[in-house]
Amino acid sequence: MEQKTAHNLAPYAMAVGQSLGRRYPEPPHPYRNDYERDRDRIIHSRAFRRLEDKTQVFTRRYSDHFRNRLTHTLEVAQISRTVGRALGLNTDLVEALALVHDVGHPPFGHTGEETLNHLMELHRERFDHNLHALRIVESFEQKYVDFPGLNLTFEVREGIIKHSRDYDPKAYPELREYRLEEQPPLEAQVIDVADEIAYNCADLDDGYEAKLLTLVLVREGVPGFDRLYGRFEREYPAAIEKLKFNEALKRLMDALVTDLIDATRDRLRKLQVRTVEDVRSWDSRLVGLSPPMAEENKRLKEFLFQKLYSHSEVRAERKRIIKSVEGLFKHFMERPRSLPPSYFVKTKEEPPHRVVCDYIGGMTDHYLLEQYRKCLGD
Ligand code: MG
Repeated sequence: MEQKTAHNLAPYAMAVGQSLGRRYPEPPHPYRNDYERDRDRIIHSRAFRRLEDKTQVFTRRYSDHFRNRLTHTLEVAQISRTVGRALGLNTDLVEALALVHDVGHPPFGHTGEETLNHLMELHRERFDHNLHALRIVESFEQKYVDFPGLNLTFEVREGIIKHSRDYDPKAYPELREYRLEEQPPLEAQVIDVADEIAYNCADLDDGYEAKLLTLVLVREGVPGFDRLYGRFEREYPAAIEKLKFNEALKRLMDALVTDLIDATRDRLRKLQVRTVEDVRSWDSRLVGLSPPMAEENKRLKEFLFQKLYSHSEVRAERKRIIKSVEGLFKHFMERPRSLPPSYFVKTKEEPPHRVVCDYIGGMTDHYLLEQYRKCLGD
């Protein structure tokens, strides 16, 4: 049966009929194509639900209306779908890729990730959220009698591996099937830039709301924002600051997304990219902002690093997170029998540090703190 996508695709889009398929063949569904089924499997997975209690940047200590990793994921899906649709890409695949892009993140955001990675380096290994996400969808999720994991299509698994970094084929022979020497389809390339637009804008918003960033600081540090704020202020001089801030931020996000669509469309046209094979064999990624907008985006990113991510309050919290992750890791390494039985069993086949890392990597923020209190008593 022919699988259909709801709208017309551009010739360089990844058509579901061209998919390299699933690891374990399955009969087609009567009215959902394979990428729609992948999207649904991701939404119904445990790893996806856990995103709700994983920190993006701000922990719940600040406020429960800030982004967490689940709402961030939904924002990425929304931006990616908009961009994908405007470019004539396969939005079913785009949506599946956006929804899965962060399932491999450990508790407590980048601090949790860096700490786990550091602990693994002591054993000459690494924690990497893309590889962790692949292990989740390939084996940790147990839902079906016929196969382990979610049995996602090749293109979704490939997109997981090629999210935000490139792996050297020589250093990762186990990933050979993912065609590491090739670019991923445009649908996967969209996710990286949409992810960046989503978190840069969201972090400005939450940082301002948390009062770690002030309007003056943002206007001084982010010229693109300053321009849009100034323009809006001239239109609505009497509006309250928060609404002017919101409006400028909304326009900034709109400008970034519009530029991404226009610059990518121009690039594809100029370079005469016609097929998915052209995309795959290109020597660089083709989805991206125009050079002036990429420069503005870089300044925004630098501003967030200098003024928000290294803010003393955020740094103080980081220390507490490192202590909890390290404490728990050490505890389970010294007492593997205190792991849940399903993880303890795995220590017979895999190195204990890998099992402990997988266990902690899958925890939510709340569960990690609860386990820390239970095991280490403070
Ligand atoms: Mg993300």
